[in-house]
Amino acid sequence: MGSVREAGQGLACICKDGIDSIGGGIRELEAHGYLIRARVRNENGQLGSIEYTILEQSKEHWAYWSRYICINRYMDAPEPVYDAILKLVQDKDYFVITTNVDHCFQKAGFDKKRLFYTQGDYGLFRCSEPCCQETFDNEAVIREMVTRQENMKIPTELLPEQHPIC
Ligand SMILES: [Zn+2]
Repeated sequence: MGSVREAGQGLACICKDGIDSIGGGIRELEAHGYLIRARVRNENGQLGSIEYTILEQSKEHWAYWSRYICINRYMDAPEPVYDAILKLVQDKDYFVITTNVDHCFQKAGFDKKRLFYTQGDYGLFRCSEPCCQETFDNEAVIREMVTRQENMKIPTELLPEQHPIC
């Protein structure tokens, strides 16, 4: 509790809210997984000051999204509808424009070059600042988030990292 108070005193110097209300905010951020507190060791290996890291997105946020993406993107659709559609078009010069983000067309065997998925793909990450066109396959990390989450939270080390470019 003392460390929350110290951080609150520091913050109170730079804003008008009282120390108690800032302390409450810090505890709330921590309870919801947006703040990580770590004791920093000095060069002699002794535990020193406390370092606070505020996260843009919480461990609960990614626990939810990883399950959602895993179910909707990486599990097979319950009915073979897309397989039936593929049988209808596979010998034709087809092209698909879809708003689906679950990639059922690709999973059924449609040629990726004959698809335009206007709303993206749950299987791809991109930078939250649209700084470039690059996307990143997320299957491995999404599956790990699903496997390793506990109490509706993923481990801190699985949180998506800051994009190295921006
Ligand atoms: Zn970026």
